[in-house]
Amino acid sequence: MTERELVSWIQKRAPHFGQRVPNGIKVSIGDDCAVYQPKPNEDLVFTTDFTIEDRHFTWKDYKPIDAGYKALARALSDLAAMAATPEFALVSLAARDECIVKGFMSGIFRCARHYNVTIAGGDLSKSDRLYCDITCAGRVPRGKAILRSGAKPGDYIYVTGPLGLWKKKPIPRLDLAPLLRKNATAAIDLSDGLLMDLERLLIASNAAAELSAPPQVQRGASLEQAWQEGESYEMLFTSQRRLALHRIGQIVTGAPGKITGENLPNQPAGWDPFGKLCNS
Ligand SMILES: [Mg+2]
Repeated sequence: MTERELVSWIQKRAPHFGQRVPNGIKVSIGDDCAVYQPKPNEDLVFTTDFTIEDRHFTWKDYKPIDAGYKALARALSDLAAMAATPEFALVSLAARDECIVKGFMSGIFRCARHYNVTIAGGDLSKSDRLYCDITCAGRVPRGKAILRSGAKPGDYIYVTGPLGLWKKKPIPRLDLAPLLRKNATAAIDLSDGLLMDLERLLIASNAAAELSAPPQVQRGASLEQAWQEGESYEMLFTSQRRLALHRIGQIVTGAPGKITGENLPNQPAGWDPFGKLCNS
């Protein structure tokens, strides 16, 4: 199969191909660029996410279709953290052969169909190791993106589900957008571990946290794992309101990023790809 035939194979299977799309995509796969017509009174939010063989997944654990699904789901989780509605994605993929490209793209399309995302374009290349970079765009009512930096002393800290086991098939919490838009002052998706992601939100918000309760623990996981393990893709958010959700503590004034409280694990850790390389 030539590259042109492979692109055509991909194009024909892309969700919405050849249909009138209800969203703002005017030109999709097959031209030099995609064309998107933004709506008035909305902001577009963008994220980009790498998926690399042996870094984010291994062929021992994943079939190409499952790895592709996960690649898009991870990017959508970042949109969920902004309380955004996904619109379209651009996929750059380098892989060893045609079979892997087809399997991986089928997984991306399955996820795209599930969450109503248009795959608007991308790029293909050949590589012994699989590299995929997905750029994803979503929309929010103007000025309503939930940022990491909005937490204020006195805000309560919530976690939207039990933690502890990494998810092979992430479920991006796009369903939380109405809740977050109504209540959240700041939010982050839990991709790298509760303590590490909380620290990021605190640093962005120039605040500290006093924790009063541990996270809920998934069946089969330890409390230690619930504090540390990444890839839960639940949401951590702050709110001025008391909500009927699991609350782990409060935002306080203090050194930015400082986390205090009883029964915390001794070694705040999480997934930091550069931490290990630098021995720090
Ligand atoms: Mg994120």
